[in-house]
This record gives sequence, C-alpha cells and structure tokens, in this order.
Amino acid sequence: MKIAICPGSFDPVTLGHLDIIERAAGLFDRVVVLVMSNSAKNCAFSIDERIDLLKKCIKNPNIEIDTYSGLLVDYAKQKGAVAIVKGLRAVSDFDYEFQQALINKSLYPKIETVFLAANSDNMFLSSSMVKEVCRLDGDISPFVPKEILNDIIKRCKGDI
Ligand code: ADP
Repeated sequence: MKIAICPGSFDPVTLGHLDIIERAAGLFDRVVVLVMSNSAKNCAFSIDERIDLLKKCIKNPNIEIDTYSGLLVDYAKQKGAVAIVKGLRAVSDFDYEFQQALINKSLYPKIETVFLAANSDNMFLSSSMVKEVCRLDGDISPFVPKEILNDIIKRCKGDI
C-alpha cells in the first residue's frame, strides 16, 4: 500500500488545500493529512481545532487526519509513507518547498517529495489571505469549504 503525507498548518484548511489532498488521494492508496505546528506562524486555530475543521470537510475513507510535533521524516518512517505531497502555487513557493524537499531527502533518502501544481483558481489562495479578507468583512465563501465557513467567520471576527 502506497501512503502519502500532505503536511501543513491548515490554519484553516482552504479549497486550495482540499484540491491538493483530493488529487493526492487519486494518486496514492492512502493519504495522511498531517497537521503540524509551525513556530514561524501565529495560528488562529489550535491544532485540535484545525483537525476538527479538516474532519468536517474530508469524508473520504482513504484520507486520514493526524498530527505530529516532531520531524516530518520521522513520522513518514513510522507510517511507512513513500511520499510527501505539496502544492505549488507560484514561484514564490518554490524556494522554500525545494529546500524542504532537499532537507527531507537528506534526512530520509527513501522519501520522495511530489509537487502538484495548484489549480489556476487557487493560485492566489492562502490561509492568511482568507483570514485577512474575513477580518475586513470580505466574502470568503468562494475560498473555503462550506462546512467550515461559519467557524472561520466566528473566529476571525472575534466572536468566540
Ligand atoms: P505551511 O505552514 O507548511 O505553509 P500550509 O497549511 O500553508 O502549510 O500549506 C500546506 C500545503 O498546502 C503546502 O504544500 C502549500 O503549498 C499547499 N497549499 C496551500 N495553499 C494552496 C493552494 N491555494 N493551492 C495549492 N496548494 C496550496
């Protein structure tokens, strides 16, 4: 069984993330969406909240949601994963993602990083953009799964 990992902060999950996750599920037998903490980011949702938001939107039995606080490659080893799948939006993503792929490969040579090109509709879409538009009263419904629209609005407008 070929297992792939889609890692990220998912703060919160957007339609851009979901597109990559679903396309990964079409290429591999099983996909693990791995919610990771990122010290460089000041997250709006806790890890448990981000997991709950993902669970509301993902019903495919071949996709599981998990979290890990250590090195991604250590999780990949434990899980027997063969690939890390990442979405690439623009050249601006490339430097960072390429560096991560090289580091992961040197730490664990058996792992491959697979880049999927973002869908053209999602090229500009990021979790931070969604949160900013929402805070400023913009309509975020074209960018996020409908199942979690209200959760995001509540959090970004400070109602909870
Ligand atoms: P990170 O904290 O690692 O940046 P993110 O949650 O922002 O995590 O993103 C996780 C993954 O999803 C990354 O591979 C990122 O490139 C990809 N991604 C994010 N937004 C989009 C999008 N709009 N289209 C395609 N891929 C995306």
